[in-house]
Amino acid sequence: MNLPLDGRVAVITGGASGVGLGIAREFADQGARVVITDLEREPLDEAVATIGPNCSGVVADVTRLADMEAMYREVIARHGRLDTVVANAGIGAHAPLGATTEEQFDRTFGVNAKGVLFTVQPAIALLPPGGTIVIIGSTASVQPPAGMGLYGGSKAAVRAFVRSWIQDIKGSGIRINVLSPGAVDTDSLRHALAMAQGADAVPAAVRTMGEGNPTGRIADPREMGTAAAFLAGDASSFITGVELFVDGGMAQV
Ligand code: NAD
Repeated sequence: MNLPLDGRVAVITGGASGVGLGIAREFADQGARVVITDLEREPLDEAVATIGPNCSGVVADVTRLADMEAMYREVIARHGRLDTVVANAGIGAHAPLGATTEEQFDRTFGVNAKGVLFTVQPAIALLPPGGTIVIIGSTASVQPPAGMGLYGGSKAAVRAFVRSWIQDIKGSGIRINVLSPGAVDTDSLRHALAMAQGADAVPAAVRTMGEGNPTGRIADPREMGTAAAFLAGDASSFITGVELFVDGGMAQV
């Protein structure tokens, strides 16, 4: 039986943890050969081991164009082709107006905006017609909470990039879409809640976050994987330039 992503070679940045790891697991289960990238070798190797033989890792920092070009050369050397890129690596910052530093601005826009540009740009020449790019945004692009203006701005930036980029690549057969999660139940989210409220308060804090949205819960990382697989595969062949909110309805109310 053919799986939806059979034969596709997919790169997922920031794939060693959280949302990226959930997407990598789903892509491998749907038949893709997956290359995950991240900043450090050890967590990358651990993640690769949990996904299995259809996954390998490359250390690359999305803020460094030379790293990204070297990473794509390695992917082509390993697999001979590239079909899908998921620009997932991203960071958050609590940065209220009045207390935002220049360092926070440079780091947040460096990873979330510049990093996405230099994940996508070198991939365009490598992707065949039918190639796909999925950029992981956030509901913060349209609903940034207090203190998250910098993060929301960086996610709104990539959403705007995509509206222009699909015109730049007209006729290439490559599609680019944004997948914007709401809250996802990741280790990094639980760690942030534990730091803010104490470890004992985490389960209740996760429940409270979920109660704020129409489905009454937050997402599992695999639910980002199934939605990303839809945008990456032929089932979405006439969809390009959209921002798909995968958020249990949060951005719609
Ligand atoms: P995470 O911290 O668990 O994972 C992010 C990964 O990216 C980490 O493994 C990290 O090492 C890697 N990374 C960071 N900077 C990098 C760089 N410069 N180069 C390469 N890799 C780098 O976070 P997550 O929650 O899984 O977030 C993944 C994406 O999902 C981000 O774009 C984030 O904005 C988005 N998102 C997450 C949530 C959520 O609730 N978790 C909600 C909305 C959007």
